[in-house]
Amino acid sequence: MFINGEWVDAASGSTFEVFNPATGDVIATMPAGDSVDAERAIAAADAAFGEWSATSPYARADILMRAWQLMGDHAEDLAHLMTTEQGKPLKASRFEVGYAADFVRWFAEEARRISGEWLPSSRSDQRFLTVRQPVGVVAMVTPWNYPISMLTRKMAPALAAGCTMVLKPAEATPLCAKAVFEIFIEAGVPAGVINMVTACDPAPIGEVFTSDQRVRKLTFTGSTAVGRLLAAKAGASLQRVSVELGGHAPFIVYPDADPEMAAKGAAALKFLNSGQACISPNRLYVHESASAAFIETLTARISRLSTGNGMNDGVGVGPLVNDAAVAKVEAQVEDARAKGAEVPVGGHRLVDDGLANGFFYAPTLLTRVTDDMTVYREETFGPVAPVVIYDDVDQVINLANDTHYGLAAYVYTQDLRTAIKAFEALRFGIIGINDVNPTSASVPFGGMADSGIGREGGHQGLDEYLETKTAGISLR
Ligand code: NAD
Repeated sequence: MFINGEWVDAASGSTFEVFNPATGDVIATMPAGDSVDAERAIAAADAAFGEWSATSPYARADILMRAWQLMGDHAEDLAHLMTTEQGKPLKASRFEVGYAADFVRWFAEEARRISGEWLPSSRSDQRFLTVRQPVGVVAMVTPWNYPISMLTRKMAPALAAGCTMVLKPAEATPLCAKAVFEIFIEAGVPAGVINMVTACDPAPIGEVFTSDQRVRKLTFTGSTAVGRLLAAKAGASLQRVSVELGGHAPFIVYPDADPEMAAKGAAALKFLNSGQACISPNRLYVHESASAAFIETLTARISRLSTGNGMNDGVGVGPLVNDAAVAKVEAQVEDARAKGAEVPVGGHRLVDDGLANGFFYAPTLLTRVTDDMTVYREETFGPVAPVVIYDDVDQVINLANDTHYGLAAYVYTQDLRTAIKAFEALRFGIIGINDVNPTSASVPFGGMADSGIGREGGHQGLDEYLETKTAGISLR
């Protein structure tokens, strides 16, 4: 753990093991922190806040720029570590490291643009001035599926704004968080500004994060259930809250779309990170006129995917995070089968060819999916593509919006009017229009309804860490 500029053990001396999900091997032992460690880390962040928040934004931008350069220098090591600890194929890890570094550069640039306003008054002898200042100590909780980019997407804007922070990374991926901290330390972040408490039981730390009055903001990425719990507790402490939660993305193929292009897009998107992405499509709505060509291309693409240890050349799909994740996918596929779905490809665990000690599930296509199946409502977080065939174009937006989630949605059409109408009518925060990657450091990312509160990335991502202060100035 990293507290007040030093790498330390848990106060209790407890530890926990970190596994490689492709092999089941133990790859590290980490300190198992608890509430005592969380309080020490908050105290360090609180003590460092005065000095750090008073630094020039130019100085903070310089440190972030150095961190960005160091991430580039260490990109290959970071990617290897990510594949070993999290499982995604090496190519995908390299992509994530680049994406993660981009947030650091983006917010280094944004730091120098934190400004206020000079405003008029109804009184001729009065003026107003506003400034934006850092909110204070930020508590961060991050997930394991994108262990480096989900961290820099919070850490870079918090530091750019002048906040200090305490992180609790996911128990499956503390090594990636440690590696990011090493980079920021080398870049020159002063002692106490960044702190990290690792743990295998996150609940006591979440309790301290959301009840300690020194913490002024909670930022969380993870499941809707835990996000709701922490947001409620943080709300009771009147902390600022950002929560990036789960999703259940519709992927709509209109009759005028190119069905092959749409199917290639669906295959590329659905099996990214073995389906363990919050913006992964969960319901593929394909118009009946395009369905034969779409299913044929998607079946061919899925059949060609190679699943295995992400370190091996040619592997396109890695393991799931743990056995519980595989069991959840199995249960959803069995439920769909029992209710009449067909499974033209996949539909089972993978245990042969040296995969028995890891957590592998075959890339799977489900057809004849209906709205009474669990997969139609619950997030899968696994490599399963459920296809629903529709005939009424006027109803498909209603079908897509029929969920409590509101994170990402995708639309395939060649008609600009259809695209714009769908973009406006879909109740989701991020819409891909003939596009499989509607994300970038330069744009806001976040959801509606059960998918969360707040935005990360873009200039909006910095606002989440700033308070606005107003001065009324009398000229009398
Ligand atoms: P999770 O909510 O169980 O865990 C996420 C984090 O919360 C981990 O660090 C975990 O240790 C911590 N946590 C769990 N219980 C806690 C508690 N009581 N107090 C404090 N911290 C606690 O989620 P998961 O199942 O590991 O992650 C997958 C979920 O994350 C999916 O639902 C996915 O959609 C979501 N996700 C969302 C985004 C986004 O930006 N919207 C990005 C990635 C993942």
